[in-house]
Amino acid sequence: MKVLVIGGAGYIGSHAVYELIRDNNEVIVMDNLSTGKENMIHKSAKFYLGDITKKEDLDKVFDSEKNIDVVMHFAAKLIVPESVKMPLEYYYNNVEGVRLMLDAMIRYGVKNVVFSSTAAVYGEPIKPICEEDDITLPINPYGASKLATENMIKWVCNAYNMNYCIFRYFNVAGADKSLDIGLDKDNLTHLIPIVTQTILGIRNKMKVFGDDYDTPDGTCIRDYIHVTDLALAHILGAKYILNNNKSILVNLGSNNGYSVKEVIDAASIYGKVNYEIVERREGDPAKLIASNSKAKDLLGWIPKYTLDDMIKTDLEFRRKINNK
Ligand code: UDP
Repeated sequence: MKVLVIGGAGYIGSHAVYELIRDNNEVIVMDNLSTGKENMIHKSAKFYLGDITKKEDLDKVFDSEKNIDVVMHFAAKLIVPESVKMPLEYYYNNVEGVRLMLDAMIRYGVKNVVFSSTAAVYGEPIKPICEEDDITLPINPYGASKLATENMIKWVCNAYNMNYCIFRYFNVAGADKSLDIGLDKDNLTHLIPIVTQTILGIRNKMKVFGDDYDTPDGTCIRDYIHVTDLALAHILGAKYILNNNKSILVNLGSNNGYSVKEVIDAASIYGKVNYEIVERREGDPAKLIASNSKAKDLLGWIPKYTLDDMIKTDLEFRRKINNK
């Protein structure tokens, strides 16, 4: 396949690029390097510096690169609390950016899109394990922007005979086995890297946001997936829509969840995790777990990596980038 990866210098995008190259595909990366880093882009991928919210940047890539089979989109803003404070930025980047991307795909005749959506579209789930046809009622602007984009993609693919593979991610963590890439950002907000930073002494103490949720230990439960498992799913999804000329929407999760305290306990074998319980964080549902039977049935995708693999590879990657 010839694949254009928009956001291929970011955390998940760079892992998708690594797996696409290991699977012998031709990979083009477009990224504005706002949060991604150029050294995260695999040397075998061709790189275009460009912004998805700028038509001329998209046109430059599509003018130069003929016969793209699939566009994969990873260029989203994704921090829940930030989205609560800056909703317009989230709608602009996440919705308007994809609108322009789809417009370019239509103009240049590219027919297949793989889109990264999120469990946040489900909002506060009504049943313990989310299934793809559950009601979607996001409770924060991040989830709302992704749901709006999902719907836009569906209508556009319907109107122009295109195919989509929409993946709803749950909580992604871990780093590539090479340790060349991983989550390398300032101001980290996600749980597992904050836990590993605390183990490494980069933080003295971490905060647990609320222990009065309706869960067995009172802390929020999430479904954690290794970034390499997620990247592999993208290859399966792209091949599925190409070969079957059909659109799909699939959860990427594990059918299983861990509470914040369980994650801290699991990481404690690598070192002490100092923490304090503080107020709840805005926009956090108590429990988000994915049913992954659709991913298994349609794509044959089963996550291979465990919570310990996520903690261990993230810790090793963080040790490497911080010289610890
Ligand atoms: N969390 C926490 N302390 C932190 C970061 C996260 O207690 O420093 C909690 C957060 O409130 C949520 C869970 O860990 O319940 C996962 O949060 P994260 O930001 O990793 O992912 P999200 O589920 O928001 O996408």
